[in-house]
Amino acid sequence: MDNRSAAELLASPPEQVRKIGPSLKEELASRRLDVIRAVLLHKPSRYEDRSQLTKLAALKAGSKAAFIAEVRRPRLGMPRRGGRTFLCQLVEGGAADSRLTAVWFHARPWFHKELKTGARFFFAGEVREGKTGGLVIFNPEYEDVSEEADEAESARAATHFGRRVPLYPGTRGRALRTLVRDLLDRVTPELPDPLPEALRLSHGLLPLREALSQLHFPGAEATEEQLERRDTEAHRRLAFDEFLLLSIELAQRRQGFRSVAGVALRADALAVSRAVAALPFQATAAQQRAVEEIARDLLVAHPMQRLLEGDVGSGKTAVAAVALRLAVESGMQAALMAPTELLAEQHQRSLSALLAPAGVAVHLITQGSGGARSPGAEALARGEPGVAIGTQALIQEGLSFQSLALVIIDEQHRFGVQDRLKLMRKGRSPHVLLMSATPIPRTLALAVHGDLDLSILDELPPGRTPVATELLTGKAQARALAALGEEVGRGRQAYVVYPLVEESEKIDLLDATRGAERLREALPEARIALVHGQLPSSEREAQMDLFRRGEVDILVATTVVEVGVDVANATLMVVANAERFGLSQLHQLRGRVGRGVFPSRCLLLGKSPLSMAARRRLKAMERLNDGFRLAELDLELRGSGELLGTRQSGMPELTFADPARHLKLLTAARSEAFGLIERDPELALPENQRLVAGLQGLFGQRLSLGSVG
Ligand code: ADP
Ligand code: MG
Repeated sequence: MDNRSAAELLASPPEQVRKIGPSLKEELASRRLDVIRAVLLHKPSRYEDRSQLTKLAALKAGSKAAFIAEVRRPRLGMPRRGGRTFLCQLVEGGAADSRLTAVWFHARPWFHKELKTGARFFFAGEVREGKTGGLVIFNPEYEDVSEEADEAESARAATHFGRRVPLYPGTRGRALRTLVRDLLDRVTPELPDPLPEALRLSHGLLPLREALSQLHFPGAEATEEQLERRDTEAHRRLAFDEFLLLSIELAQRRQGFRSVAGVALRADALAVSRAVAALPFQATAAQQRAVEEIARDLLVAHPMQRLLEGDVGSGKTAVAAVALRLAVESGMQAALMAPTELLAEQHQRSLSALLAPAGVAVHLITQGSGGARSPGAEALARGEPGVAIGTQALIQEGLSFQSLALVIIDEQHRFGVQDRLKLMRKGRSPHVLLMSATPIPRTLALAVHGDLDLSILDELPPGRTPVATELLTGKAQARALAALGEEVGRGRQAYVVYPLVEESEKIDLLDATRGAERLREALPEARIALVHGQLPSSEREAQMDLFRRGEVDILVATTVVEVGVDVANATLMVVANAERFGLSQLHQLRGRVGRGVFPSRCLLLGKSPLSMAARRRLKAMERLNDGFRLAELDLELRGSGELLGTRQSGMPELTFADPARHLKLLTAARSEAFGLIERDPELALPENQRLVAGLQGLFGQRLSLGSVG
């Protein structure tokens, strides 16, 4: 089969291969398994070892078992809510009495036809103690083992018994298993392997066919532990393919940027050192390095595409200031976009302080400041050099730049890809600097943002005192109230944050509202404000502004406190239900305090009883103050999805590949991909076309980055 027809087949519904009953069809549709590709790549949630058949006499309560038995006394049970149960006794070798009862909660119409007295079946399930002494097995799977079973039938039996079998989530697991078996038998042998053999062998990977087959029906090589972690050789092969396709797309995008004509700025060593020297503090070594990396990009007549990553408080704004200044001193315009008005205003203040002395005009462009009709926007539209600082107001129609040469996006994960693109389109291929306070470990950053160059601020400016962090559970939580009272009594300010979980937003909001009320009762002197997502944003920002000006003592918030709020007088962060947050999020929250000269603390309230895992995670917050270390730990403990907040980041869904777990595979796939695009940027060679088409056929659009930029 060639690539084209393979891709077509993989994209067609399983009916193409065989008939599908209505209930399986419904299940497939509800699980988005409506094409062959999806079924073949559907990861079993677990595997069950049914290679050993147990003797009926040896069955023990509390264990999973697979065995052969004969049906006696099939019957319907008492009617109950949701239908009737179906029961039968199970015996071995024609025995007269049975101590094992099989119970199905929902009698199916076909049970009476199949489960007849005297019929023999494989059974599998969990055996439990019965109420009246004997043993029970609930909802067991069963499979025909009639003596005269023909060859086809015994082959089918081997799908469900006598081996390690896959379990899939959902109610039609067994039917799905049969379908998978059929597809593996009829479709997989025809599929060409997208990977050239040499490449496959050099990374020690399984052939595609074997990988697909072993994904569902693992061979003897797969260890229990690998199966447990769903990380066998089969998983790894598919993970490599995912990384490879993703990396090829990233490499192509990167190549694309490099071939576009941009503006070379006057970012020579002299200009850079002058701008750095003008900062009101000594730049950290990390800042110095980042500035140099950026300047090197700006000097070139191709657009920069760089991500600046740095922990909260690492001083990204100062780095941005240097870049902005270099752009304006080259006679061009620059823009910095932030996610909220508050943050934009804060940037406006601090960047004006840094840049105005150098004669750089800094304009605030937000809804509040008049948007496109503000004097600043008009100056930029006329073509005067300068910097625009703003919110999404920057990307509205009607706002134009004459010579936008540098675009900086702060808190980039808060913006959709489209917003970024819109701002870029206000100029002609401007240089782009994305700033992120989520300290993604370098490896993961490469996987997600492999089309970008990366600068990391891995050092905090000197003189910061770490925020003393403590986990409080049970009765100890009362100490949070005492701490709030103390800080307010000293004239300091505090945050109290409640997590918002999508499914239960109403309850969470209620939590926060009650929390605020209780605080008002307990601390009648304190000025307390409550902000949450259901407030209009103007109202929310007004409250935040009061807090910033010191006219509110305690800010109770449902959502993560607006990123980047800088209130030096805030010294206490209390996080309720802290177990619901990831470590990186907690670290971000903690970064809201400890910004001034006062010693600060962070109290994490855990709902008791805390699971062991949650306790371990939260305890790490007491120990670690380094955002990168915490991100790594988060990655280990919770996987990459949480850290990336994938949907927004434009990251495609990876099913098998996990950058945290498959670092080596990722590195290998990346270097193959970048090498390939370097040698053959246009994918002109037939073997490379085959490779990419084959991978795309296998994974479909799911892995496509589309025209993200
Ligand atoms: P973030 O990376 O979180 O955006 P900011 O740019 O807001 O951090 O910087 C945090 C604080 O640190 C600011 O008050 C800033 O003035 C200060 N700062 C930045 N760089 C330095 C430095 N090299 N030395 C001393 N203070 C610095
Ligand atoms: Mg910042």
